[in-house]
Amino acid sequence: MNPKKDEIFGHPKGLFILFFTEMWERFSFYGMRALLTLYLVHATTTANPGLGWSEKDALSLYGWYLMLVYVSGMPGGYIADKFLGQKKSVILGCILLVFGHCILAVEHLWAFYTGIGFIIAGVGFLKPNISTMVGGLYRNGDVRRDKGFTIFYMGINLGGFIAPLIVGYVGEKIGWHYGFALAGLGMVVGMITFLYGQKYLKNVGNFLGKSKSQEDQEAFKRPLTKVEKDRVVVLLLSFCIVFVFWAAFEQAGGLMNIYAEQKTNRNLFGWTIPATWFQSVNSMYILLLGLPIAGIWAKRKLQGKQSSALFKMLVGVIVMGTGFLFMSAASKQYDAQHSSSMSWLMFAYLFHTVGELCLSPVALSYITKLAPAKYASLMMGLFWTMTGLGGKAAGLLGESASKYGEFNVFTGIAIFCVVFAGLIFLFLKKLNAMSHGAEDDVVDSA
Ligand code: GLN
Repeated sequence: MNPKKDEIFGHPKGLFILFFTEMWERFSFYGMRALLTLYLVHATTTANPGLGWSEKDALSLYGWYLMLVYVSGMPGGYIADKFLGQKKSVILGCILLVFGHCILAVEHLWAFYTGIGFIIAGVGFLKPNISTMVGGLYRNGDVRRDKGFTIFYMGINLGGFIAPLIVGYVGEKIGWHYGFALAGLGMVVGMITFLYGQKYLKNVGNFLGKSKSQEDQEAFKRPLTKVEKDRVVVLLLSFCIVFVFWAAFEQAGGLMNIYAEQKTNRNLFGWTIPATWFQSVNSMYILLLGLPIAGIWAKRKLQGKQSSALFKMLVGVIVMGTGFLFMSAASKQYDAQHSSSMSWLMFAYLFHTVGELCLSPVALSYITKLAPAKYASLMMGLFWTMTGLGGKAAGLLGESASKYGEFNVFTGIAIFCVVFAGLIFLFLKKLNAMSHGAEDDVVDSA
């Protein structure tokens, strides 16, 4: 039998089933996210009526939504481990998401809250489990695994790039509920893709049984060693960095989205660019810069200047934070001229994306290296929880703009990120020593 028969581009065919399923899931997620705050703040009397909420209330709901959508990954992962297995959990997630997005298409307040509830549960079942399935496609030590995750991350951003362009356009220009329906249609395609692809996923994501092996039970009983304890401490600190990062970054779908709509001159050759299209910019930059940035780190590694994950994550926070200074400039320009240039947003998103590429993929593999085996799932769950709490904090920061003004909020975020990361930099050597060689050969040469 030809072993390459079940491969495409040197990777298991199952990877491309997961790629397209996640691409459509993110299509529905980012399509809906692009519309969410704008739909909430649009007056009820306009041609495309929204709910007429205040900016503060809209950003508060945005924060709660982001928090719950990622925190739900914790029970989602737990139920998969204990009862369903990842594959069935992803199918359940697909069904909940299709329902959620379709309910949002109904024009009623009850439908809005019910739809959001279904989406939160659906993402909780789908997102962590489909990511685990990617890892499960490769045996331990298979050198293709990292590449597999990179391909998967591209799928995420392909969905994130296309969605605001199509769903955003339909939602803003034709009607919010048509946009929500379109996001639902994308999720239907995602679900069909996953069901169709079952034959390529036979050996991955299956339920492993309730009873733990003798070996596993022993490992729970055993107390953590000094090395493991140190690693957990460093890991928890890295979660604080993750929290700060998303608290700042997630202004994208909130305050920056509203800013793009209300205060940015979006005229291009006499045509007004839909505000939601700016939600595509982050994913577009990722598709363009993802590989070159991974190449820079790889080149440094070859030159013997490998950087630690913490180093990269702190650089990520600083670069992303600095991006907010472009938004400070945008607010200053708006105060002076009652309109601000869209190039500020383009530069801000460029910096945010470079920051994300330094932090997000790195943090995931860092957890797998540092977490003691018995806490591996818990640590992964905590990581998503911190991402979710970051989203809540992002909503609160956005809300505070109605009190303190956009300039102060954007500038405050930039200063905080730089000072916060700068302070942790002072302890970088000590912190890396506390990881006790979990990331081999790291020297952090400048
Ligand atoms: N953009 C990535 C995704 O959608 C990461 C999002 C996050 O961790 N907040 O999967």
